[in-house]
Amino acid sequence: MKKLRTRLTRRFFTVAMTSVILTAIAMSIGSWFNYTSQIDNTLRNYGQILIQSYNNNQNFNFLDNFNSKDYRFTLIDPNGNVVYESEAQNNASDMDNHINRPEIQDAIKHGAGKSYRYSDTLGTVTYYYAVRAEDGYILRVSIEVKSVINSFVSIIPMITGIVICVLLFSIYMASVSTKKIVTPIEKMTDDINDVAYEELVPFATTIEKQRSQIKKQIAKIQLEKDKINALIANMNEGFLLLDMDKNILIENDSAAFLLGSMNNKIVGENIINLSRNSDFLKCIDNAVKGQSGTVKFKHKGNNIQLLANPILSDGKQKGVICLIMNITEKEKTEKMRREFTANVSHELKTPLTTISGYAEMIENGMAQADDIQRFAGKIHKEAGRMIALIGDIIELSHLDEPRKKIEKQYVKLREITEECFDSLSSSAEKHGVTLSVQGDNVIYYGNRAMLYEVIYNLCDNAIRYNKQNGEVNVGIADKINKAVVTVSDTGIGIPQKHHSRIFERFYRVDKSHSKETGGTGLGLAIVKHIVEQHNGKIEIESSESTGTSIRIILPK
Ligand code: ADP
Repeated sequence: MKKLRTRLTRRFFTVAMTSVILTAIAMSIGSWFNYTSQIDNTLRNYGQILIQSYNNNQNFNFLDNFNSKDYRFTLIDPNGNVVYESEAQNNASDMDNHINRPEIQDAIKHGAGKSYRYSDTLGTVTYYYAVRAEDGYILRVSIEVKSVINSFVSIIPMITGIVICVLLFSIYMASVSTKKIVTPIEKMTDDINDVAYEELVPFATTIEKQRSQIKKQIAKIQLEKDKINALIANMNEGFLLLDMDKNILIENDSAAFLLGSMNNKIVGENIINLSRNSDFLKCIDNAVKGQSGTVKFKHKGNNIQLLANPILSDGKQKGVICLIMNITEKEKTEKMRREFTANVSHELKTPLTTISGYAEMIENGMAQADDIQRFAGKIHKEAGRMIALIGDIIELSHLDEPRKKIEKQYVKLREITEECFDSLSSSAEKHGVTLSVQGDNVIYYGNRAMLYEVIYNLCDNAIRYNKQNGEVNVGIADKINKAVVTVSDTGIGIPQKHHSRIFERFYRVDKSHSKETGGTGLGLAIVKHIVEQHNGKIEIESSESTGTSIRIILPK
């Protein structure tokens, strides 16, 4: 791009030089015309004075005395013969007849005539003035001067000198003037409102307008960028942007955590350094080739799902976007759900098969009159088990439902325990178990029905897994920031290896004992669920054949 400063300097310089040259030419031409008209006048004056003198004296002898270095005098008779010539080197008698010379012709016809002739060889021009005397003789005065070109050539050194001076001066002036013009414009880059010239006001206004538009657009783009960055940063899923060489350009913390290590940035690394899993690498390779895909693979003990998509811009692929999800929990939950469904089906099928078997026997008349009551009792028992099971399943499915907050109120834990004892009194009686409660009537802020369910299930287990004439004791304690409910029994106990599993759905230490006593296998799972929803925790102490103590710690 051309610089304004250079352009202006050149333009100034050109104008100055053109002016100098044109002025020099115009002055030369003017001087030349002035010079030639002066020559004409001088020649005419000489001619007129000398011819006057001749007319008075009737001879030209005075010409011999009239010595002039510059002027030449020639006397021509009426026939054109040269009779006198002032230039020493020319002999009058040897000279050509002058009758046809234009100035001589004019003098003969009109009394006077002038002309000039160039000599290319000498580079001169000779001016002639001829005047006729009264007796018909003609006097011609002439002068030889340098031609225009010759005169011009002779002043070339002077002109060159002037041009160089003007050139230097014009360069200096051009640069000074350009600086004066350009500096205020350059200052406008610092402050566009400091307008240097009136003519630049529309320009400055447009720039200012565009600048504010650009500012707004940049702010908008920045906002969008911030939004996207915030979105990416806060995504639970890992996010990666790869270039076509599979180098990581953008990452979020989740991706770094899932594929790298905590606080370990993976930007700039090649994806191959994160995992050598062939399915993972193949999925990325396919995405680089333009094919979207998804893959599940194991990485650092987690089950990871990767979704890789090519990024296209203007029809050309620019890179790959990856979404990385930790599906370990999801898969675990799905597995649990599958197992739960299978368990439920199994648990329901067993009593139904029994019910169906007894009913069929009665229907086919295979049951004796005495058996019918027994069979009906069996059917009733199995139906009761099914009802209990379905009740627990419904309870669990309610607890599984995602809800924002459980409804809470102030409840008296001792009161709830006594209510549970009331409901369980016949079962306790049946098993010969004594129920007792200790501690204050602690007031706790929680869901009454849920807390009833917890204490009921724990007491129910403590009775069912107790020994004949055993005891169940519920201790209620009000500790700093927490309420503690401990259900202790003198029962069969739970071996250590089962402690971590008894809260799983349908997990039983002794299946037949559980079923025999009307257990569904879901009681402790419900307890665990409810305690978690109250942000509490469960502790268990148990030794085989001595008894079990389950402690519920509920934060206030
Ligand atoms: P269930 O309906 O079979 O009792 P739970 O979920 O209530 O199911 O309990 C799971 C298992 O834990 C029981 O099957 C039993 O083996 C064991 N268990 C629970 N409570 C006690 C306890 N107080 N004493 C001994 N074993 C217990």
